[in-house]
Amino acid sequence: MKPVPIRYLRATTVDEAVTALARYGLDAKVLAGGQSLMPMLNMRLARPQVVVDINEIRDLMEIRYDPNARQLVVGALVRHQQLLESSLVHAHQPLLSAAARYIGHWAIRNRGTIGGSVVHHDPSAEWPLVTACLGAEFHVQGPQGRRVIPAADFFVTYLTTAVQAGELLTAVVIPCLGPGESWGFQEYARRHGDFALAAAAVTVTLSDGVVTAARIAVGGVADRPVVLSEVTQHVVGQAPTAQLEVQLGQWVYDAVNPLAESPDEQAYKRDIAAVLVRRAFRQAINRQPAGQ
Ligand SMILES: Cc1cc2nc3c(=O)[nH]c(=O)nc-3n(C[C@H](O)[C@H](O)[C@H](O)COP(=O)(O)OP(=O)(O)OC[C@H]3O[C@@H](n4cnc5c(N)ncnc54)[C@H](O)[C@@H]3O)c2cc1C
Repeated sequence: MKPVPIRYLRATTVDEAVTALARYGLDAKVLAGGQSLMPMLNMRLARPQVVVDINEIRDLMEIRYDPNARQLVVGALVRHQQLLESSLVHAHQPLLSAAARYIGHWAIRNRGTIGGSVVHHDPSAEWPLVTACLGAEFHVQGPQGRRVIPAADFFVTYLTTAVQAGELLTAVVIPCLGPGESWGFQEYARRHGDFALAAAAVTVTLSDGVVTAARIAVGGVADRPVVLSEVTQHVVGQAPTAQLEVQLGQWVYDAVNPLAESPDEQAYKRDIAAVLVRRAFRQAINRQPAGQ
């Protein structure tokens, strides 16, 4: 199929894009990498009157390191492949490059953007999971001005976020790894490049052989990424032993409540989530420098 007739507008600044989006409201769609929007237009699942192409807005294309706040400021138009390859990302938040490897195939990574992925919000996608795990902030500009949305409020449900009609996501601000902090990322899909059946992102901080802080999140098991704060509380204060890992798996199994068509499928998804978190936790511990 082909899209319904659409008016095409090209914005070269954020203000131009916001003006066009505000003018057409729900009848307008932003065109970023087009890797989700174009199939939806072709299948007529989306029927906007106008698309606002943001691919020439240079301000949205950069990854910047803010050493004072210890954050990466990632422009909404940064491609998946850029995040995979960036030396700033490798140095300051390598969990992002690890997750980017799992996104689709090269052609999709080369065009698709972090902004498009988080606003599209497929709950099995990598960026919603990783940004939720790390407690990212989302910078949005609209006709009423700018606002910052914390990850906990950003992902609402399937294909729905807190970004309103007329607003443009401009940047995703992501905390960097702290001292003594390491990370793990695990994903299970039927074939490499498919959306995940489930995925897990974990960060762990160790001091004197004890976990002093952790973040644990799972994707693909609910209508949005699930940050397992209560499970994290059980882990903090403990030594990362094999026994703790077994317990961790059980805590995750009990904490997640995947939507499924049968009890067997639900148990299967819980099992996958538990195994992936255990493995990601182990990865994080193995990355710790000796003596932590
Ligand atoms: C075959 C295939 C396999 C894929 N596999 C994976 C996978 O394994 N993992 C994964 O995560 N993704 C996967 N994807 C999706 C891909 O990552 C897309 O790039 C991503 O979902 C959307 O990003 P985009 O830049 O292409 O956005 P677009 O398709 O251009 O836009 C997506 C939506 O976001 C809106 N939007 C885009 N940017 C902004 C902005 N700055 N502000 C406000 N709204 C905005 C658009 O209006 C649209 O509604 C796959 C896609 C395909 C076609």
